Amino acid sequence: VSGIPRIAPEPADAIRCKFDRLKQGSGTHSPSIATIRRDIPELRIEVDACFLSNPYATDLFMERLDRDLIATGRLRDVLEFYPPQNYDAAGYISQVSGIPPDFIFPGNGASEVIQAVIQRFAGPIVALPVPTFSPFYEFAPAATQVRFYRLDEAAGFRLDVADYCRFVRECGATTAILVNPNNPNGYYVARDEVRALLSSLRDLSAVLLDESFIHFAYEDDDSLDMVSSERLVEEFSNLIVVKSMSKDFGIAGVRAGYGIMQPARVQELTASGYLWNLSGLADYFFRTYGEPGFRTQYEEARRRFIRDSDSFFAEARAIEGITVYPTRANFMLVCLADGWRSFDFAMEMLINHGVYTRDCSDKVGLEGPFIRIASRSRTENVRILHALRQTAVTGP
Ligand SMILES: *Cc1c(COP(=O)(O)O)cnc(C)c1O
Repeated sequence: VSGIPRIAPEPADAIRCKFDRLKQGSGTHSPSIATIRRDIPELRIEVDACFLSNPYATDLFMERLDRDLIATGRLRDVLEFYPPQNYDAAGYISQVSGIPPDFIFPGNGASEVIQAVIQRFAGPIVALPVPTFSPFYEFAPAATQVRFYRLDEAAGFRLDVADYCRFVRECGATTAILVNPNNPNGYYVARDEVRALLSSLRDLSAVLLDESFIHFAYEDDDSLDMVSSERLVEEFSNLIVVKSMSKDFGIAGVRAGYGIMQPARVQELTASGYLWNLSGLADYFFRTYGEPGFRTQYEEARRRFIRDSDSFFAEARAIEGITVYPTRANFMLVCLADGWRSFDFAMEMLINHGVYTRDCSDKVGLEGPFIRIASRSRTENVRILHALRQTAVTGP
């Protein structure tokens, strides 16, 4: 049970206004927890269910970093000297993925990979299912036309691959994008369907597949084995896979991600300046990621988090007055009862319960009261569910 006293109406109104202003200043992203704490110190945030990450993986990486860099004093080297060029990180990623290093383009977060790829390889007409992660349309150069393929709410925002391929043809797209699992709704397109899409679209100049949440997806309920279509770059020459390490490893502050694409494309990007864009910490992360011992431990943290998240989603589905869409990611998209404004609901959760969720009213392709809620640690999830139940029963 949340022990936070309800804030009186007047200060609550003031908080709402301040928050609204912060949100205006963050464009299509949410104000970070650090920004909110600085600008609205009277607000007590207990659980950040806006940020999407595996907290167990963060714990694991912190232990390693303590042992390797802090306890030994080697942190100084990481901060003082230039890190190796990106080829080193490409080597570690290659060890894990089995894909040759010349196919791998490490980036300062997947956002940088998306930016680089969308500006060079994705013109002139791009097909994009929405709602989705906004940089895919925001980073497109002015000369590129982005055609939105609207996912249907009645179908639970699921993507029908055949229908999407038809749309790609109809709008004459030269590039098609697929975010799998998708943000903000968490739908998952199975591997054989991804392959079908790639076969059908192999003549396009590029197909961009963002697998930033793929470590949370699975096809076998018992084994929870990792699924990925990365290896298909060796079979489909127009495929570009984008991968963020921020969410599954819980290290958004490190800024680490990569792209997988034809070696000629990697060379083109490297020649245009993306040679030294990883920080020392990101280089350290990829080095650690290359170690089998670390990955065995990560695998445990990954499975534990998936199990906890699945029970969290199941409990949320049982709450009356909200609709939870099918998800294979570490978050759920929630539709609120008629009459609610998503901003008001998110503010009630935040002010009365200290639970920060993502108001989705700014998302292209979502009309109606939607919020996105991340799964966190088991104890945090208990608090989120409590706040959800309490807020849903009050009604708009
Ligand atoms: C968060 C996110 C990214 C970007 O992550 P980085 O922190 O820049 O690595 C990319 N794609 C999707 C779908 C995301 O949600």
